Amino acid sequence: MSSYRIQGATGEWEVVIGLEVHAQVTSKAKLFSGASTEFGAEPNSQVSLVDAAMPGMLPILNKECVRQAVRTGMALEAQINRFSRFDRKNYFYADLPQGYQISQLYHPIVGEGQIEILLDEKDESSAKTVGIERIHIEQDAGKLMHDQHPSFSYVDLNRSGVALMEIVSKPDMRSPEEAGAYVRKLRSILRYVGSCDGNMEQGSMRADVNVSVRKPGQPFGTRTETKNVNSVRFIMAAIEYEANRQVDVLEGGGSIVQETRLFDPDKGETRSLRSKEDAHDYRYFPDPDLLPLELEDAFLEDCRASLPELPDAKRRRYENELGLPAYNAAVLTAEVETARWFEALLAALPSQELARQASNWVIGDLFGALNRLGKGIEGSPVTPAQGAQLLGLVADGTISGSLAKQVFEIMLETGQDPSVIVEERGLKQTSDTGAIEKVIADVLAANAEKVAEYRSGKDKLFGFFVGQTMKAMQGKGNPAVVNELLKKALA
Ligand code: ADP
Ligand code: MG
Repeated sequence: MSSYRIQGATGEWEVVIGLEVHAQVTSKAKLFSGASTEFGAEPNSQVSLVDAAMPGMLPILNKECVRQAVRTGMALEAQINRFSRFDRKNYFYADLPQGYQISQLYHPIVGEGQIEILLDEKDESSAKTVGIERIHIEQDAGKLMHDQHPSFSYVDLNRSGVALMEIVSKPDMRSPEEAGAYVRKLRSILRYVGSCDGNMEQGSMRADVNVSVRKPGQPFGTRTETKNVNSVRFIMAAIEYEANRQVDVLEGGGSIVQETRLFDPDKGETRSLRSKEDAHDYRYFPDPDLLPLELEDAFLEDCRASLPELPDAKRRRYENELGLPAYNAAVLTAEVETARWFEALLAALPSQELARQASNWVIGDLFGALNRLGKGIEGSPVTPAQGAQLLGLVADGTISGSLAKQVFEIMLETGQDPSVIVEERGLKQTSDTGAIEKVIADVLAANAEKVAEYRSGKDKLFGFFVGQTMKAMQGKGNPAVVNELLKKALA
């Protein structure tokens, strides 16, 4: 694993990172009310009396949110706590009409677990395990809008009461790259599980970034916590900036104060927001409106049975059962949409022997085209079935690999099936030895000097003759047959 170090005047410093990721739970309704969680609605159009904290309203726990948190815990190989409880975290802020957030401090629903990250996709030995401390469920607050009017601020309570999972890592990461790999892997697992859409731009996943520095081998230093960072790039930049700032402070003879900071994406800097509050500042106590949560065996079994094959298991299966190279397996399983597309392609292939070619085609040709078009795999103009048909046409010798590239370009433009394109445009490859021999005879006659050079030992010219023959046949000669007949003719 990489060893990331900051070089200071007094020697090398190591960075210690722990992340608290807030992930919005995928559910139709909020954690304690029936209001919708749909993104992008008119402000304050999805607010029940419970979310607005009208006096006398009582919360009713949404079972689906509990189920999603348990499934997430299982996917992170974590301890599931059959007994958990909700606590009130008391504070005042204009986006929090209740005056407290319902959360789980003392008895979270999920305990210790782990995530395996790969720093280099090509290399299993770059794997590292990052510990998960706990996952608890809690309510989101509303949103303040300050820039709508010069002298007013507005509050939108649509988000108020939406269920969040707070996924707390151990302080196990040691570089911005490790933190980036951790967040990407966590997001990938959440998307596989379907418990959070992982959409960081819409705020469905955001991280509090805890950073400290120390001389290697020394005890952990004092940490700062940078709140609500909402992209992988910003998380990495915040760590980089904050670690260097702390080294400067310490080397200048100062000390780090435990505090809450904000990241400014425009400047790439963090700045102090407030001194860090401790749990006792919030006067946590068990919420008297909610009973403790006790999970039954049948519920846990149902959660486990509903889990899909997860990215690590899938990656290993692609390598061991399909025989894919490690890199291909890692790339194709990194995002659930890619894996789904690839598996639909596999299902449509004439033979599973073609899995490896198929993986190369997806990563090379398809990803290349999608990149050019600025599209994700879900927006691919070519369907998995069409991709499978194209690979089948190459495998059965109907078209050569180079013709396949031409056909693919036409598929991208027209959306037609490859078999139709090959038929209509007469792009079939020919293995007709008579026809090929005739073309070869013409090529050799037109290049008598080169033929003489070849025969006197300039072997490298063979490729030239192949190229000329293929060109004369507009790419339609079967390459194996062309090679064989050329060897004979030149002998
Ligand atoms: P709080 O709610 O006060 O922020 P938590 O226990 O919920 O406390 O979260 C602490 C987070 O800080 C965890 O992700 C943990 O890994 C991380 N952390 C703890 N100590 C350090 C440290 N010395 N340096 C960096 N990160 C740390
Ligand atoms: Mg925190």
